[in-house]
Amino acid sequence: MVGKVFLVGAGPGDEKLITVKGMEKIKQADVIVYDELANDRLLSYSKEACEEIYVGKKAGNHALPQEKINELLVELAKQGKNVVRLKGGDPYVFGRGGEECQVLKAAGISFEVIPGVTSAIGGLAYAGIPITHRGCASSFHVITGHLQSTDLELDFESLTKIKGTLVFLMGVENLENICTKLMHYGKAPDTPAAIIYRATTPYQKVVEARLDLLVATAKEEKIQPPSLIVIGEVVNFRSQLSFFEEQPLFGKKIVVTRSRVQASTLATKIEDLGGLAITCPILKNEPVETERLSIMINRLPVYTHIMFTSVNGVELFFKALFYGKKDTRTLGKIKITAIGNATAASLLNYGIIPDYVPEKFVGEAIMELLKDKLTANDHILLPRSENSRDFLVTELSKICRVDEFITYRTIAETERLNNLDNLVKAGEMDYVTFASSSTVDYFIDLIGTDYHAVLKGVKLISIGPITTSQLASYGLEADYEAKEHTIDGIIEALLEDQKQ
Ligand code: SAH
Repeated sequence: MVGKVFLVGAGPGDEKLITVKGMEKIKQADVIVYDELANDRLLSYSKEACEEIYVGKKAGNHALPQEKINELLVELAKQGKNVVRLKGGDPYVFGRGGEECQVLKAAGISFEVIPGVTSAIGGLAYAGIPITHRGCASSFHVITGHLQSTDLELDFESLTKIKGTLVFLMGVENLENICTKLMHYGKAPDTPAAIIYRATTPYQKVVEARLDLLVATAKEEKIQPPSLIVIGEVVNFRSQLSFFEEQPLFGKKIVVTRSRVQASTLATKIEDLGGLAITCPILKNEPVETERLSIMINRLPVYTHIMFTSVNGVELFFKALFYGKKDTRTLGKIKITAIGNATAASLLNYGIIPDYVPEKFVGEAIMELLKDKLTANDHILLPRSENSRDFLVTELSKICRVDEFITYRTIAETERLNNLDNLVKAGEMDYVTFASSSTVDYFIDLIGTDYHAVLKGVKLISIGPITTSQLASYGLEADYEAKEHTIDGIIEALLEDQKQ
């Protein structure tokens, strides 16, 4: 059976500006053919087996010529594949989407076009510029600034007469030409104008100037493509309507060092506040063999106390329990401690309310809470990660018997390390957050021996005292230590630093 091609508008940059329908097609695609301007994070929503083909141009790489892209789409569809052709902004706004659909039509391949938010409108909005405004701009015109590539010479005379907002795409290289021609035909030199670089992304940068000063200002600010050039009175609204750049963490590049599942919460929170979260290194929790865990489960009756030190520990414990065909009744009168609120909440998922939850989520606080409650007759089971520190075991052992049981190991995942690599090379990191002491080791390991140089000028945020002392053991000082030793505590620390 012949496949189908969906031309999907990816939106201007912010991954969340894709349409619900566009996202649905990405999730169903067998293959995604994408451009430079489409946010490549959207690819992460695709199926595991989805093939990803990049056809844009990146430094040193030539873009695949349009005819080849057309052929590729036809070829993939003929192989019976469900193809997504992902384009920045809207597929029909200077996206050559029309040409691709013509070729598909001629080859008898069915297609659908899923419109996207074009940068020409959405990009302006994120810069605080409404493309129309009552009494100020009653029309708008989206124009290509890539003049050589069009056979039609632009009618600057007419464009000058139009009162509406002018938006030039692909115009940075021709900026001087555009401004000169508009003024030549009578556009007032003091017309408000702006250039928006990488609109709707954490890299967004906006420069404003009068039309006659725009070229000089753009040079001074080293404006590069991709950028939008806006000319018209609506630019003046920016001072009132800017919101994107006002977000507390806007433009901050923040490295998040946590495991895959845990990383996403912190990363999402950072991005909701306008920052760019780079999740690296990705730590993977690798459970130890289930047979080994069964030994722990079979020994359960000897224990008087179980102490859970992480959500992962809870998950794996119950996995092993159920694997051994046992249920929570096996726990009977065994007392249960959870090291923190998250661990307590995950116990609740299994119908268990822990007997003890310390106020502070550190080993010392647990000892404080339990030392009067334990006797020499107690026997504690401590399911935990291999990389945990020994403090708890040492201290608890002074009171009663303690059996540690290693339920998982934390190992670094190599994928996506490139993101970190690029950030390090560009010297762009603003913050590195450490949500546990093991992430300190992995991060340093990843950066290598010159970590002191790499981290110069980068602020380090630690989740709590143990992580801070782990940093200190590498000769690094945490710039902030979260007051509450949680993900929200890290966010608080980041926000606190913005006030400085
Ligand atoms: N189909 C796209 C436009 C493709 S033409 C759309 O609807 O947005 C490519 C040009 O679009 C770039 O040269 C630049 O002028 C503009 N552009 C696209 N995304 C942009 C962004 N995030 N920030 C600034 N300009 C952008």
